[in-house]
Amino acid sequence: MPSACRAEKSACSRVCLLPFADDDQLAAVLSHEISHALAHHVSERMARERTVGHGLLSLSYDRQQESEADHIGVFLMTFAGYDPNQALAFWQEMEEAGHGRIPERYYPIIRADERRMQQLKGWIPLAKAAKTSLRRASNCARACRKSLE
Ligand SMILES: [Zn+2]
Repeated sequence: MPSACRAEKSACSRVCLLPFADDDQLAAVLSHEISHALAHHVSERMARERTVGHGLLSLSYDRQQESEADHIGVFLMTFAGYDPNQALAFWQEMEEAGHGRIPERYYPIIRADERRMQQLKGWIPLAKAAKTSLRRASNCARACRKSLE
């Protein structure tokens, strides 16, 4: 099994151990993890590890990658019809209950600190607005097609 697949499986295993209040929170976490894959974060880690030269693949993403996955993930879940505010709720609950559940070496990277929460709060209205704009453009395109029929 390629190491990228092992790393993704590891991330999935960690996610599957988490408690979810509802489908929106599950969507928040899955969107976040899918975003890591879409942004090729494992490949970035592998390239970085090769550059460093010790040949060990880090099992965790860095803060920049976490931030990118949060950003993309909020848009993904919003466009899929889930409530992006639940991403905020999930990470808040993780921060409150998760410290003892998250291995100590990952905690500084995946914790929901003030920076992460502020970024999410900023992206949620942007994702909602983008979805509304897309819906309007789609309705407009549909109306244009009908007028040409
Ligand atoms: Zn992540």
